[in-house]
Amino acid sequence: MQALFYTGPEQMELRDTELPPLAAGESRVRVLATGICGSDLHAYHGHDPRRVPPMILGHEAAGEVVEGALVGKRVTMNPLVICGHCDYCREGRQNLCSNRTMLGMNRPGTFADSVVVPDHCLIELPDGMSPVVAALTEPAATVLHAINRLERSLARPLAEARVLVIGAGAVGLLTGLMLRQRGVRRLTLAETNPLRRETAERAGLTMIDPRQTPPEADSVEAVFDCVGAAVTRAMAVQATRPGGALMHLGLQDNDGPFDMRAVTLKELIVLGAYTYTPNDLHATVDLLASGALGSLDWVETRGLEGGATAFADLVAGRTAAAKIVLTP
Ligand SMILES: [Zn+2]
Ligand SMILES: [Zn+2]
Repeated sequence: MQALFYTGPEQMELRDTELPPLAAGESRVRVLATGICGSDLHAYHGHDPRRVPPMILGHEAAGEVVEGALVGKRVTMNPLVICGHCDYCREGRQNLCSNRTMLGMNRPGTFADSVVVPDHCLIELPDGMSPVVAALTEPAATVLHAINRLERSLARPLAEARVLVIGAGAVGLLTGLMLRQRGVRRLTLAETNPLRRETAERAGLTMIDPRQTPPEADSVEAVFDCVGAAVTRAMAVQATRPGGALMHLGLQDNDGPFDMRAVTLKELIVLGAYTYTPNDLHATVDLLASGALGSLDWVETRGLEGGATAFADLVAGRTAAAKIVLTP
C-alpha cells in the first residue's frame, strides 16, 4: 500500500510499504478520507516527542472495511484505542483511559491507503453519509465534548450566554457552528488570518480581527480558546465576565504568564477538555449526518500524493481551508 510517512522535521514522503498484519479482533479499513489535524502539524514541526519518525501520522478518518468485522461497511473510527477495564473506562470517561494508545501516534495512522483498527473502535456510518464529512467526526467530537463540559459549569443555559470563540481553524469553526446549532445567538469568533475569517463568514459566523478590534473586557459568559497560546489565554481571561467559564482547547504553546489573580478575583471557571468518549463520537456522527452544521463546504480535499504539499501550505497559511482532507 501507499502511505505518507513523516520522516523527520518538516519532511513528508509518499512511500510503498507492506500491508500491516491483522491481529485477532482487528479490521482493515480502506481509507476514503482522512483529515490533517493541528496535532499532525505539531508533529510535522518535530514538536511532539510522542510521534517518533519514521511513522504514518493521521487519526481522523472514514473508509470501508475490507477485512475483519463489518466487511463492506462504511465506517469512521475512534483513534483512541482504550483498554475498557481501567477506572476511567469503567466510569465512562474513556478519553482518559490509563492504558490508551492512539492511531497516528503510537500505532500506524490513517495517511495511507488502509489502516488496521481494533474492531471496538469502528463506528458504522448511516447510509449516504459522505466519507469526507465523516472524516470530520473526530475533531467535531472534541468540540462536542468540550461544549458539553463547559455547559455543565454555567449558571444559565448555554443558549443564553454571550460566547467568544478564539481561532477559526477547524476546531474553532466547528465550535462556532455547533454553538449556533445549540441556539447560542450572541456569538463572536476572533481570528487574525483574513482567509480564515472569510471562510467562517461564508459559513454565516460573526468574525472579528482581535488585532483591530480586541474583545471587550468582561463581555462574555464563556470563552473557547481554540488556539491555546499566551496571547489568546490572556484575551480569554480578560474577556470573560466575573463568574464566567473559559474552555482551553488549543495546544499551541505553554508560555506564561497566566493571570491566576484574575481567575480568583473574577471567580472564573477554567476548564480543559481532551478528546471524546465513544458516546461523544456516536452523537457527533448523528449530528454531522443530519446536516445541522451546514454545508461544511469549507473542507478542501486533496489526494494522498498531495499530502506533503498540503502540510507545507497549512504551515505557510497559504490556504483558506479550515481543514484539508486527503482522499487516498
Ligand atoms: Zn485531530
Ligand atoms: Zn482504560
